[in-house]
Amino acid sequence: MITIDGSEGEGGGQVLRYACALSLLTGEPFTIENIRGGREKPGLMRQHVTAIEAACVIGNAECSGLAVGSTSISFRPGTVTPGDYHFAVGTAGSTGLVLQTVLVPLMLASVPSRLVIEGGTHALAAPPFDFIERTLLPVINRMGPTITAKLVRHGFFPRGGGRIEIDIDPAPLRAIKCIDRGTAGPMQVTAIVAGIPFDVADRELKAAQKVLMDWPAEAFVTRQLPADQGPGNALLLEASFEHVTEMMSAFGKIGVPAERLAKTAARRMAGYLASDAFAGPYLQDQLLLPMAIARGGAFTTVKISEHTRTAASLIEQFVGSRFRLLERDEGANLVEVDVSTS
Ligand code: ATP
Repeated sequence: MITIDGSEGEGGGQVLRYACALSLLTGEPFTIENIRGGREKPGLMRQHVTAIEAACVIGNAECSGLAVGSTSISFRPGTVTPGDYHFAVGTAGSTGLVLQTVLVPLMLASVPSRLVIEGGTHALAAPPFDFIERTLLPVINRMGPTITAKLVRHGFFPRGGGRIEIDIDPAPLRAIKCIDRGTAGPMQVTAIVAGIPFDVADRELKAAQKVLMDWPAEAFVTRQLPADQGPGNALLLEASFEHVTEMMSAFGKIGVPAERLAKTAARRMAGYLASDAFAGPYLQDQLLLPMAIARGGAFTTVKISEHTRTAASLIEQFVGSRFRLLERDEGANLVEVDVSTS
């Protein structure tokens, strides 16, 4: 039985999702106290409960203490069973974060799975669908499995109502090195609006353009969705390279000027472009679990995040795989699975 202090490190929801995935992968039960102890409002939120319930369903696991607001749970894994599953977060809670919980166990199963997940697809502090489809999955697919993702309907905060479909064709994971991102390809900034004034998209694109001055004018586009998918707004900034596509994003929020949201996301993209790194600020923590299970691999990245450090130490607790986190003065930082201890 592994004991986790959920307030350590990043102290957020990610440690829970990774703990469930790791428990299903290793058969090791765990208890976690001080859930989301690093957050202003600690304890489980609806989306965390759905993610853990999803882990229980696919892994025939038992979990005690599972309720909104709970600050500790015990999780006892069973056998991972691939199949067709439907999970609904019920709010705008992230569909991508439910996927983050069950993806790795299912992509190592003996036969394919199909997931339908309903909830938010473009909401704050979570991977938007486009990031999953074009940034994360292409890297994971290079490791062996074939995973495809389809966005059926967008879901924004606070209404949710989005729907994604994921097909997972499993394969053993092989170690890959993600060091160079290769030559630059097309860049694109898309402002998505649903049921809100078009002008918001315009203002976001103009603000992003001021930061990404050398991106061509035709790279800045607006996409208007049917009003009934809203109200909602997202800004997606996408840079394609030979070996990776990176994506930064911003999500419209009442009270925050569109220009400010766009500028922050564009600056993040500019920071990534100015580095030589393969992985940006979010891809890095999401590559750790598959690389640990592959028992090898490495990637270069921008500044190593607290999410990455927290995930690395959790993975070490479950599978013993250590990561070497090399912070370099020049060029990109390197994150490497230390095979000598795996
Ligand atoms: P909390 O409310 O506790 O912060 P949370 O469950 O939303 O909980 P975090 O622990 O902050 O979760 O984890 C968020 C996850 O979403 C991380 O894996 C992070 O890399 C990813 N993520 C956040 N924002 C983005 C983004 N804009 N693009 C891609 N991935 C993102």
